[in-house]
Amino acid sequence: LSPPPVPAIRVLPPEVAARIAAGEVVERPVSVVRELLDNAIDAGATRISLAFDDGGLSRIEVSDDGRGIPPGDVELAFERHATSKIASIEDLHRVHTLGFRGEALPSIAAAADVEVLTRARGEPVGVFLALVNGRPVRRMARPAPEGTTITVRDLFARVPARRKFLGSPAAEARAITTLAMHYALAYPGIAFQVVNSGRRILATSGDDDMRHAFAAVYGAEIARQVLEVDDCDGGVAVTGLAAPPSIHRGNRGGISVFVNGRWVQSRPLLFAVVEAYQSQLPVGRFPLAALHLRLPEDDVDVNVHPAKAEVRFRDERRVARALRHAVRAALEAAAPVTWVVPGH
Ligand code: ADP
Ligand code: MG
Repeated sequence: LSPPPVPAIRVLPPEVAARIAAGEVVERPVSVVRELLDNAIDAGATRISLAFDDGGLSRIEVSDDGRGIPPGDVELAFERHATSKIASIEDLHRVHTLGFRGEALPSIAAAADVEVLTRARGEPVGVFLALVNGRPVRRMARPAPEGTTITVRDLFARVPARRKFLGSPAAEARAITTLAMHYALAYPGIAFQVVNSGRRILATSGDDDMRHAFAAVYGAEIARQVLEVDDCDGGVAVTGLAAPPSIHRGNRGGISVFVNGRWVQSRPLLFAVVEAYQSQLPVGRFPLAALHLRLPEDDVDVNVHPAKAEVRFRDERRVARALRHAVRAALEAAAPVTWVVPGH
């Protein structure tokens, strides 16, 4: 018996390469939602509506009133590494937008059927484009409001392996709802509307008042009680809202942390917020807070992961310390008596 032949190395066909890359950007329905919201925000939208059905598996639709896509660029937007947001290596060091890789739309179109209706500022009429398997199949002129609507249907229908690893539609819907809540708090200047299976589950006014956004997400009663956070420590400015220790939850999902306007999921930063409450919270309970951190761009690297799930800091401990100090200062100001050290 001869040993099996050594397989030859070959460059994968573009569809295979695209499908692999798509898997890194589009893990779950919520990753599609995040990419579409990011694009709407990058387009300067002041109103964004998100609608989804079956946890996003049968339909995700995001509409914005942003600047739209120029008619000549609509197909290009779905090609890999095609972006209007950066042009050179230098630009990578000063990314001001949430997206910049030019990977989201092609990845989504590789995993689902996509329709886009967009009218760019100054254009008399909109463009409708439908894509199947990542390729344009239909294009026509169509009246449309200024802005962009992207509809994603039957996500992962052609990727059964991926579908198997998803949670139930209800679990996926929860993940999307949570994301939308964090985004509503991150951008109080944008009016968000979120509709799950025909039912409106969130609406913010977009009046740029953080407390109003907090009320839309957590209710007016909680919003009335939350404390103002406003502090600067070691070059890190922290602003936002933190609930008093009397308000708490069973998980960390009520803690939103934004770095230079971007929602981040950072364990050390979430931990810093919890630590600020010291022993004031019951065991196993977590606070509600929405906190914006501003720090020099050179101190943050957003170019870490295709799904942008994480950022990297030059000095993470300094950032965590600033966050902890700021929240603690707000709590102390509100209830100084609880902070007397025993024995003094
Ligand atoms: P990236 O956001 O990294 O540039 P995407 O694949 O998400 O890559 O989008 C590709 C391009 O399509 C963007 O650079 C932008 O020019 C355009 N685009 C996508 N979504 C929108 C939108 N909602 N409004 C305006 N332009 C958009
Ligand atoms: Mg994008």
